[in-house]
Amino acid sequence: MQNIPKIVIIGGGAGGLELATQLGHKLGKKQRAEIILIDKNRSHIWKPLLHEVATGSIDADLDGVIYSAHGVKHGYRFELGEFCDLNSEQHTVTLAAVNDNEGKLLLPERTISYDKLVLAIGSVSNDFNTPGVKQYCHFLDSHKQAQEFQHELLNHFTRLHQLKSEQPLRIAIVGAGATGVELSAELFHIAHMAKQYGLANGHAVQLEIDLIEAGPRILPALPEKLSATARNELTQLGVNVLENTRISEATEQGFMTSEGKLIDADMMLWAAGVKAPDFLKNIDCLELNRANQILVSGDLKARNQDDIFVFGDCCAFLQADGSFVPPRAQAAHQMAKLLAHNVANDLEHRPLKQYHYVDRGSLVNLSGYSTVGSLMGNLSKNGMFIEGKIARLMYISLYRMHQMAIHGLAKTGALFIAEKLLRVVRPKMKLH
Ligand SMILES: Cc1cc2nc3c(=O)[nH]c(=O)nc-3n(C[C@H](O)[C@H](O)[C@H](O)COP(=O)(O)OP(=O)(O)OC[C@H]3O[C@@H](n4cnc5c(N)ncnc54)[C@H](O)[C@@H]3O)c2cc1C
Repeated sequence: MQNIPKIVIIGGGAGGLELATQLGHKLGKKQRAEIILIDKNRSHIWKPLLHEVATGSIDADLDGVIYSAHGVKHGYRFELGEFCDLNSEQHTVTLAAVNDNEGKLLLPERTISYDKLVLAIGSVSNDFNTPGVKQYCHFLDSHKQAQEFQHELLNHFTRLHQLKSEQPLRIAIVGAGATGVELSAELFHIAHMAKQYGLANGHAVQLEIDLIEAGPRILPALPEKLSATARNELTQLGVNVLENTRISEATEQGFMTSEGKLIDADMMLWAAGVKAPDFLKNIDCLELNRANQILVSGDLKARNQDDIFVFGDCCAFLQADGSFVPPRAQAAHQMAKLLAHNVANDLEHRPLKQYHYVDRGSLVNLSGYSTVGSLMGNLSKNGMFIEGKIARLMYISLYRMHQMAIHGLAKTGALFIAEKLLRVVRPKMKLH
């Protein structure tokens, strides 16, 4: 292994795990390069599933991919660690010390050298420095946070049930992008399901959900028709949609609006926009935009850096119209595919391809109630509106594409069958 180049990928998320798998097959298995994947967690869960983890509709312990085992099969090596610094002149990255659950030192701070580095560390929720948000709100940036939400939700269900309380559970969500909208619908679904599992007194748990959006409409980044249809569906479910409502503070009791009105809540979630992690601001060799995302050139190299590639949510890719590529799983997937080519070619000093974002449209899944979306393509340059079963099928196919990229066809098929069987033999919601 000593004379072959070392490719270090940091972040095994929607994009990073796909890239590690592809480079593992292309270079790692053939001993043409050593591929190292670093992540601060031991297992991967596809981020667009986090709202389902948060409600207990899926169990991250069962659906997660264990990096170390996956790496052995797919030609890369996994290292647990949290990236915190970078020295581009010495070609090294620093990983913070890792402690175990009891706070005892597991791994000391380390530096790791690279020939080519790929940063794919994703994004985190942007609280825009709103007072109280860090202290009182849940976030859905990681499966740990999603599990914390699920535990609190289950505790509320248990409390209401065992005290035979007729009080509704009040949940307030700030940010009506895909995360907030999908979570609102998923919560109603799980509240209905609770009665099947002895968590509600013969009827669904009563929910009072406020979905709060500062802008004039929900799903502001998506076409208006899609937003209007989703709004209609949510309102019918019973979600209280509050548009043009700006939050100035989170308190123990709930959210305070800029007009001084308190929105009472038992649980609060903040999902109002994303940014790349703040520590990137301390790394001098990287140029960032206002959302801390790393500016890249057309071949996805960090600006003015020859050996550092950046992609997914943490990269700022400027498009011809002056906008940045949106932080989406479909962009991370496309970029991973391009980088499997570019990183390999760069090692051999061959030409690199330029990235071009292709918007395939957007799909929003309102749990079992409905799915709405707009598809972009040659036949529908302005977006074709879809709804119902076809939209649901397309929504599921996004996840299946990710599974195909990391497991291949045969295992994706086997997982599909296993999931269906588990649905029959296990409860349909996580109850612990
Ligand atoms: C609830 C929800 C629903 C969504 N739905 C959709 C959808 O329907 N369609 C769509 O296109 N997009 C959707 N998105 C957005 C999509 O999930 C992201 O755009 C996508 O995951 C970005 O991929 P990524 O690889 O850049 O980052 P991520 O998938 O976030 O992966 C980042 C990885 O880096 C690791 N990491 C982070 N920091 C460090 C560090 N310092 N050191 C080491 N490792 C680190 C993390 O553990 C993680 O594994 C959704 C997001 C959410 C939260």
